[in-house]
Amino acid sequence: RPRIGVLALQGDVAEHLRHLETVGAEAVTVRRRSELDSVDGLVLPGGESTAMSRLLDVYDMYAPVSTRIADGMPVYGSCAGMILLASLVLDTRPDATWFSAIDMTVRRNAFGRQVDSFEADLVIDALGPDPLRTVFIRAPWVESVGPDVDVLAGVRASDGREHVVAVRQGNALATSFHPEVTDDVRVHRYFLDMVRAATS
Ligand code: GLN
Repeated sequence: RPRIGVLALQGDVAEHLRHLETVGAEAVTVRRRSELDSVDGLVLPGGESTAMSRLLDVYDMYAPVSTRIADGMPVYGSCAGMILLASLVLDTRPDATWFSAIDMTVRRNAFGRQVDSFEADLVIDALGPDPLRTVFIRAPWVESVGPDVDVLAGVRASDGREHVVAVRQGNALATSFHPEVTDDVRVHRYFLDMVRAATS
């Protein structure tokens, strides 16, 4: 069975490991180079993107992860992980860095203070007809995408507009929300299928 790593420098690692095991992957934590080398796919969890960016530097993991992504390793980022996959990040710290794996501009903490956290039921065609319960925690939204990016889902925010919250470009998947904190494992199953397709 495919071995999928969860970047374990910071953030909600255990929840992702549990969902990945539930859908049938071998789930392992990744903190160092040798662990990264052993996985077929990688999850960048939710947490705090600027802290994760700093720790990637401290652990000398920025370049190795970047290289694996460029070589086609499937990668899935949720919330802070989505921010790390963007090609441009708005409202972040000047010293933060990211992977530019998906041609998109992402705005950090975009949903504003009153609605720092909220939930919504979203129909996401890629996951089938049943709505997915989505949990947003100080979440980013996707402000714009390039031509090669598939938009998988949007949500209406308190500004009355619909904002993109799930995207895929090639082997990179990103969601503003946290599927790992609900019992619905369809996003992790979808990612496992991406990993299987890439390794077969
Ligand atoms: N606001 C966080 C950040 O900017 C993301 C929040 C989360 O991952 N739940 O990194």
